[in-house]
Amino acid sequence: MLTVYIFCSQSSIKAQGDQILDGIGETGLIARYVFDNDQKDWSRNNLHAEIHGDAQFVEDDFFKKVISLKDGAYVSLPSNVLNGLESISVVGWIQPEDKTPGTYLFDFGKSDTSHFFLAPFGTANSAEFEAGIISGKTENVILKAPSAAIEKYPWAHIAVVIDVSSGRLTAFVNGVAIKSVENINMELEDVFDIETEGKNKLFIGKALDDSAKPLQAKLHDFRLYRVALNPDQVQRIFENAIRKNNAVVNERKEAEDNLPKFTEETPQLYNEYLVSVEDVKLQTTIGNLPRLPRHLPGKYQAGIKGPEVRVLWPAPEDNHSVAEKGVYTITGSVPGTDLKPVATVEVVDSPEENTPARKLESFELDEVSLKENQAGQKTKFIENRDKFIHTLAGTNPDSFLYMFRNAFGQPQPAGAEPLGVWDSQETKLRGHATGHYLTAIAQAYASTGYDPELQQNFSDKMEYMVNVLYELSQLSGKPSAKSSEYESDPNKIPAGPGTSQYSSDLSEEGIRTDYWNWGEGFISAYPPDQFIMLENGATYGGQENQVWAPYYTLHKILAGLMDVYEVSGNEKALRVAQGMGDWVHARLSQLPTETLINMWNRYIAGEFGGMNEAMARLYRITGEHSYLETARLFDNIKVFFGDASHSHGLAKNVDTFRGLHANQHIPQFVGALEMYRDSKDSEYFKVADNFWFKAMNDYMYSIGGVAGARNPANAECFVSQPGTLYQNGLSAGGQNETCATYNMLKLTRNLFLFEQRPELMDYYERGLYNHILASVAEDSPANTYHVPLRAGSIKRFGNPDMTGFTCCNGTALESSTKLQNTIYFRSFDNRELYVNLYVPSILNWKEKGIVIEQETNFPKEDHTSLKINGKGKFTLKLRIPGWAEKGFVLKVNGKPEKIAAEPGSYVSLDRKWKDGDLVELKIPFSFHLDPIMDQQNIASIFYGPVLLAAQEEGPRDNWRKIKLNAKDIGSSIKGNPEELTFEVDGVLLKPFYETYGRHSVYLDVSLE
Ligand SMILES: [Zn+2]
Repeated sequence: MLTVYIFCSQSSIKAQGDQILDGIGETGLIARYVFDNDQKDWSRNNLHAEIHGDAQFVEDDFFKKVISLKDGAYVSLPSNVLNGLESISVVGWIQPEDKTPGTYLFDFGKSDTSHFFLAPFGTANSAEFEAGIISGKTENVILKAPSAAIEKYPWAHIAVVIDVSSGRLTAFVNGVAIKSVENINMELEDVFDIETEGKNKLFIGKALDDSAKPLQAKLHDFRLYRVALNPDQVQRIFENAIRKNNAVVNERKEAEDNLPKFTEETPQLYNEYLVSVEDVKLQTTIGNLPRLPRHLPGKYQAGIKGPEVRVLWPAPEDNHSVAEKGVYTITGSVPGTDLKPVATVEVVDSPEENTPARKLESFELDEVSLKENQAGQKTKFIENRDKFIHTLAGTNPDSFLYMFRNAFGQPQPAGAEPLGVWDSQETKLRGHATGHYLTAIAQAYASTGYDPELQQNFSDKMEYMVNVLYELSQLSGKPSAKSSEYESDPNKIPAGPGTSQYSSDLSEEGIRTDYWNWGEGFISAYPPDQFIMLENGATYGGQENQVWAPYYTLHKILAGLMDVYEVSGNEKALRVAQGMGDWVHARLSQLPTETLINMWNRYIAGEFGGMNEAMARLYRITGEHSYLETARLFDNIKVFFGDASHSHGLAKNVDTFRGLHANQHIPQFVGALEMYRDSKDSEYFKVADNFWFKAMNDYMYSIGGVAGARNPANAECFVSQPGTLYQNGLSAGGQNETCATYNMLKLTRNLFLFEQRPELMDYYERGLYNHILASVAEDSPANTYHVPLRAGSIKRFGNPDMTGFTCCNGTALESSTKLQNTIYFRSFDNRELYVNLYVPSILNWKEKGIVIEQETNFPKEDHTSLKINGKGKFTLKLRIPGWAEKGFVLKVNGKPEKIAAEPGSYVSLDRKWKDGDLVELKIPFSFHLDPIMDQQNIASIFYGPVLLAAQEEGPRDNWRKIKLNAKDIGSSIKGNPEELTFEVDGVLLKPFYETYGRHSVYLDVSLE
């Protein structure tokens, strides 16, 4: 009964808000209005509402302080609240004071003929609880239920959910579903404008139709989610509000239960024909868990040529099984079968650690240029590059400097407009886009040698940006005209003027701008408080005593400054980075190790991007040892080494990252590899290398993304247990956060510079073509956050005009201005040239005086040619991809070369090359399946390197079924390889990177 519920204090109600407590992913929540004293959005998005008329904040027995709407007062929400929705859920508390039919709790839409509303006491037509979706395009949907449910107690908790993929509208009262309408055939675009500059009206307490009567009610804690909440989630939101409940997202054990289930008898592709699978024997050293092969040879029924068999192994959480010398066994399983392959592991003494030296170097961006195909057509690479370069060229640097000037209390130049989204006035991540921007303009400068005017544009932008940042950083911790007192020591920074508390309040009224007190060298788009509060234990959230991720933002800024320095030699850029590097060293070197462990393991708050990478790089550039020390202070000890005594962790091949936030951690592994490069400490290499192997084999979706969990219920997390993507992945809120794949590619290419394992480049190619190229809109540089892969999903693109950035919009600026950076690598001694990717391009190998022109229309053809201009001796190493199961044909100057090479290797041509030599390589494509490891009938179809997506007419709530010939799957697929368009079982398949409508990347495949 409502009256016996124990209520949390006002402050803890705010604290829960951060949807963490409700077990709904970080990006699921769009906005949250607690309405206890103001109309602010308590989510990280800062989508503050506006009050119209005479609304009052009044005392309440139940929630202490609530908003009271009377006499026509109402609330409006910003139009862009509805941008990029997958589905929508609206949740809030209401205490009605007048139950007149025809009053609206909320009404959202393009107009009063295209809208989504809730009339809790009925409309003019009937006196029942009524939720409606009115669309000009499809049939109207009306949900009606008796309004008695909401009148039972003084306060009612109401949730209304439109689940687009299931075609369902559901209403909940007090955590319980009261009514559903099924088989709705609609898209949110039919009702809302969900483009970035959405033109919607969103009212709370008023109808879009001005003639309707206004609501008279008290309201509390009104929230919007971009996902369709399931009944458990709605119930949890309700219960968390009325009970003290300290659950956190990563502790939630059960998965959202809304993926189609399969019986144990469901044939799982080739496993249906499997007769036996081989056991395996391997060795490991004391303390190190063995790297178990994820695929083993299998024997199939006569006539079936199946692939190597995917084996799932148990994944211990520590390394006690390998604590001593001896032999032990591990029993695996094969999905859809009773087969139990056994691994016999011999644990032997640890020999000297033998980790590889860095052998290769990449070329500078200005040494490789993308070119058109032979027919003079732009490739996808050039199309995407140009979308970004041209829009970047038109940006105003003052927008990217706005919040820096604001933090330092400086005037804005004429015409300066702030950025929105995560760089707006009150978001605690502001400045992050500026870091990405610095990197992007540096890369764009280096990559636009083909157009002097463009290059000058980026040169001017770099110089202007750095000059302003330099001037601001010079103000920190020094006497100023505004104050004779100052504090130069980063460890003695006082709280802001007139307060004894550090605060993350960045509002116009609340932000501190006493830069003379901030310690020398400080630079950020906010005052130093968030850094200090993190040390003092602050958690992630929207309150003034909470933070977002201060070191995450700083990593972007430092990386950007170093990128500018490296392409242009701008010393001021380096000095700004060094000043802040010194500031960070001064503070972090004072902290006990336990404090650091605690900081770096704090959800989101402790997210530091690749600070370890940035500081190691600053050491390499400057030779200052303190920066390498600082880099080490960012060790994520728990994940890397298990504990402070380094007893296990990833360094010993223990999977310590399961269930964690993916993009919080991947850059840390990039940083570990950078630490290895500079410190030669082999543990760091093993951290990065072991992570990569596991991410690839146990967490990867077919497009190359690695995040998106149902358990823990967070679209940004790794699944809770390795090898369980179907059981625990494919989160409803989306998967494949795009910035996480950006970071996976960075890690992958860096690993390849140390160890030339072909599977690294197989992954690079997969992620580049099927996620990064696929993440950009058709006709603008708008790009994706998550890339959802449930049946009938759609990509949502944001930030077409570069005015408001999420993390993924930030990394997209970087990805698309360096698309050429991994096509070729060279050995340090310039004796080897690696050709990793078949992309039309020109390599200007300066040290060698050689220019190589690669001509191809790959992947719309299966061959490439390399023309060598100049002469010299070197070994040309050409990648034979892992998917090249039909072999390859290699010719030099028209003559076939007889060289044997397996798929997944590099062939070597070692000779003295002459001017005009022509190397031709043909790698016939074939179709192959990429199944989800624990539900193998759910699989993606690839043609060569290209992921083919089924083009869908509309949303779906179940996997699309197709049948393929078990003996030759290609015989079931018809189409046009030159266009990469195919058909199977009546559905059109196209490259995912050319798919802009609804798609099914995973299909329910049966073999026959
Ligand atoms: Zn992101």
